[in-house]
Amino acid sequence: MHKDLEKVLLTKEEIAARVHEMGQRITADYAGKSILLCCILKGAVTFFADLAREIDVPVEFDFMVCSSYGDSTDSSGFVKIRKDLDADIAGKDVLIIEDIIDTGTTLSRLKPILADRDAASVKIATMLNKPSRRRAKVTVDYNGFEIPDAFVVGYGLDYAGKYRNLPCIGILKESVYKG
Ligand code: 5GP
Repeated sequence: MHKDLEKVLLTKEEIAARVHEMGQRITADYAGKSILLCCILKGAVTFFADLAREIDVPVEFDFMVCSSYGDSTDSSGFVKIRKDLDADIAGKDVLIIEDIIDTGTTLSRLKPILADRDAASVKIATMLNKPSRRRAKVTVDYNGFEIPDAFVVGYGLDYAGKYRNLPCIGILKESVYKG
């Protein structure tokens, strides 16, 4: 285990098994259609790359950057689009791929923005979900794991730009961000 982790919450194997299941469900739900997979950079990139390869219907890739926590561990409460999608999504089935839903602020604001662009549908797939922290209502269509209220890193998730390459998901030691 990495020295800065207090605990491993999800191993590489547990993540892979769940991502496989999610891909199968998405494949079944979108049978006969194609999907525009919208990756929310940077945290979702690992999940996005793994999930895309478990989906067996045609997909397109697109990417967005939204404002996040910066170097802090608490939400700023507002959302800014720093890089928009390249594609015109009118008439398309859009699946937003997110790393983690915490307060729900980001997706509760982003989903209506995309829906207003006349997408045929806009759904959400998230690797992690912290329901106990929710402040804004978000309907999650595909949910990897529900986790407790703790700050986690790994599998794409960072703290101050670090730990994204850990293959597991773990709780970061408080001493790393409070010390
Ligand atoms: P929300 O808008 O739902 O509060 O937060 C969503 C974003 O906050 C996520 O995309 C992620 O960037 C960040 N976030 C929330 N919880 C955590 C966490 O436990 N660890 C990390 N690394 N980022 C988090």
